[in-house]
Amino acid sequence: MFSWTGHPFVDGGLVALLLYSGKTRPEELTQEDIEKAIKFASELYSRKEWSSSYLHALLFPNSGLLMANPSMTKKRTPENIAKNLESLLQEKEDPSTPLCEICGRRHSRSKPVYRSEFPLIGSGGVPNYFPSGKDGANICSHCLFLVQFMPLILYRLPRLLLIHTYPPELMLELHREALNDVLLTRLVSSGRGYKRPENFLFTLLTEVSLKTEDEKLWENASITLYYFTNPNRGRPEMTIIHVPSTVTRFVAHAARHDRAGWERIVAMGWRKGRENEKVHSNEVYQKLLSGESILPYFINMTERKPNASWNLLFFYCTEVLGLNKEALEFIKEVGDRIVETLKELPDNKLSARVRELERSEKLYQFEAFFVNLEKLRQRLGLKGSLMTFDEFARLLTTYGEDLEISWRTVRNLLLFRIYEKLHDRLAKVEASEETEFYGAGEEVEE
Ligand SMILES: [Zn+2]
Repeated sequence: MFSWTGHPFVDGGLVALLLYSGKTRPEELTQEDIEKAIKFASELYSRKEWSSSYLHALLFPNSGLLMANPSMTKKRTPENIAKNLESLLQEKEDPSTPLCEICGRRHSRSKPVYRSEFPLIGSGGVPNYFPSGKDGANICSHCLFLVQFMPLILYRLPRLLLIHTYPPELMLELHREALNDVLLTRLVSSGRGYKRPENFLFTLLTEVSLKTEDEKLWENASITLYYFTNPNRGRPEMTIIHVPSTVTRFVAHAARHDRAGWERIVAMGWRKGRENEKVHSNEVYQKLLSGESILPYFINMTERKPNASWNLLFFYCTEVLGLNKEALEFIKEVGDRIVETLKELPDNKLSARVRELERSEKLYQFEAFFVNLEKLRQRLGLKGSLMTFDEFARLLTTYGEDLEISWRTVRNLLLFRIYEKLHDRLAKVEASEETEFYGAGEEVEE
């Protein structure tokens, strides 16, 4: 009777039916499942706390179907609401009407559909809102039926959050908590009190990826957040946040393979140390969502240590940044050669050398680090050079200033490798001591 449509609100209703019935695929739903779900929803929707402050105030203003219209208070009973929902399912199709704009499988209702029964479409008397210029949207009775169940799985934080996904099975996982809250408290879920939908999503993603074994769920997962209201008073609001599929895959991988590392990376994203994760914005989350690099958060320059495993860094660089594996292996190898040279130095000199790299803000400073290191190798009598000329050119020009992968990326990757290998020795040296005696870039001026 039902199938996934790709429309967030209609799929949201289907998620509610499936979760309530303990099923995962629309074709598994039986007549009995649907009857039970109608009974459950109608009982809740007839309560004051659902009807007036939620359905009427935020989602289906003045809905006649769910009897949220304040004038219907006296007639509002579970039985009457259930009757309305059942009659929607039994409504005859009119072959002369256009096909439903959502599912494309059935003819739309002849009776107009407005925003009081389907969120965020136009209201009656404003026909120029609708694509065909006619009164109401072309939506079939089955799609309209499904949307009436969406209230059961939304998170209210304080706007309403719907997480629409491909594959749809992922949506079941991400909304399971909302329905469980409803079953437990008989109230709409507050999403643990989160006030930021993206923070809540990252928390959910981390937890769900630990719980579900199915790798397929993440392979090409696409997630879109709809954070909205369709209020009785005031303007409707809608924020749409798209989560790139590479980011979803990365978070799932991080949660499973380096949870502690992922937590340290996120911890660096709070602007002023430990903030309220439910209320404040996190730089790591924001950058992941806007497609900016979070590579700098993989290293902790203050404590001079890597925040995560090389494995997670490798996954991030190749899967999210799109860096090729060969380039990454090459940089890692150069990092190891740098470590081989640096480890010959006493602690304080070692620290000063690394500081040069940490403080290089310009390309010429970055170059100077390598030139100085080459000189050091000669002075220490180490065999062979740090890099061949070709390798040096590759490191500086292939990943040059203006290219997508800048030398700063290379610098951060090298620092990651150095911290990984030399953290214990670096940690011993006080940052304040060293710079007075071993200023950066000394050899270049010689
Ligand atoms: Zn439809």
